[in-house]
Amino acid sequence: MTTILKSNKLQNVCYEIRGPVPERARQMEEEGQRIIKLNIGNLASFGFDAPEEVVQDMIRNLPNSAGYVDSKGLFQARKAVMHYTQSKNIGDVTVDDIYIGNGASELIVMAMQGLLNDGDEVLVPMPDYPLWTAAVSLAGGTPRHYLCDEANEWYPSLEDIRSKINDKTKAIVIINPNNPTGALYPDSLLKDIIQIARENNLIIYADEIYDKVLYDGVTHTSIASLANDILFVTFNGLSKNYRACGFRAGWMFVSGNKKIAKDYIEGLNILATMRLCANVPAQYAIQTALGGYQSINDLVKPTGRLAKQRDLAYKLLTEIPGVSCVKPRAALYMFPRLDPAIYPIADDQQFILELLQEEKVLLVQGTGFNWQQPDHFRVVFLPNLDDLTDAIARIARFLENYRKR
Ligand code: PLP
Repeated sequence: MTTILKSNKLQNVCYEIRGPVPERARQMEEEGQRIIKLNIGNLASFGFDAPEEVVQDMIRNLPNSAGYVDSKGLFQARKAVMHYTQSKNIGDVTVDDIYIGNGASELIVMAMQGLLNDGDEVLVPMPDYPLWTAAVSLAGGTPRHYLCDEANEWYPSLEDIRSKINDKTKAIVIINPNNPTGALYPDSLLKDIIQIARENNLIIYADEIYDKVLYDGVTHTSIASLANDILFVTFNGLSKNYRACGFRAGWMFVSGNKKIAKDYIEGLNILATMRLCANVPAQYAIQTALGGYQSINDLVKPTGRLAKQRDLAYKLLTEIPGVSCVKPRAALYMFPRLDPAIYPIADDQQFILELLQEEKVLLVQGTGFNWQQPDHFRVVFLPNLDDLTDAIARIARFLENYRKR
């Protein structure tokens, strides 16, 4: 019998957030052990409920949801997204420019499949949300990682971006607010990135799925609101801002210089029709979510649950000797650094596995986010204050033992 192999297309595709270490955690749970999971930004599993009116609206519309709808999505959902783009000062987005998908994830893969030929390059942040790297590779492209600089608030290094552009570079991906660093980019930086894109004919892919998860009173600017002479493709959805990851409701829209992209847009339309349409019940939730009470604001204000958890996690982690961290201004994550002089880690996946086995805390190693050195890990600060305190005490104990090795 010949063995059955996966396709060559998957050769460079990996997604460590759901890789071998979480698989080991799953086995440990089956054996009856309790694991504290700081590895996935899945709000519902930490008691963050989706807004009640959103859930009720979806239930009410369930009987009307059994048929296929327009491949790009329900008109009313796209209209609501259109109004959202207007509220973010993004010019000239029509209902036709908007695509509803089964989460932003599906649309990210679609956007890359529609663009790339073998060998085309896309600038992807490092660290990144690894779906982007995987989606570029799966589409036959080559991800070129540009540095986000920890010494400068994790902002993208313009110098590094420039140094990685060549005649194969088609696009740049901006994740703002950022996963895994929690960074929020200032307008001046966004304008500088636009200028680089303008000079080099790059499309800007803007992943803004955390654009309402903002702390300390900061505000978010959509990069697509800052220019109209280049092409932008922006991604967002209900998963994070509305705590509804499982509904699988996301969207993308094209904006800016759409005239130069007619052929690409036709490609996106072909891909959208190939999968007929996105999950319909969740599409009914979009209008209610975007137009309704924005309950995320209650969670991110200084006394809100998410803000308090961020503050505690930051305080406790940075009290551990040899651990430093840029305080996140947005999103649900921190990306702390382990001083290599104190923690000489050779393989950070092994390090995270040992932490899991010894202390029953699950994290994701920095290299899972395409960070090159084995000296970072990502913390999801979604568990409640007691569980966070417990988890970080266990991390501290593990690190103390590690220092004594
Ligand atoms: N983009 C970023 C930066 C994310 O962190 C995530 C999920 O964690 C996604 C996209 C995927 O979102 P969705 O649930 O809409 O597929």
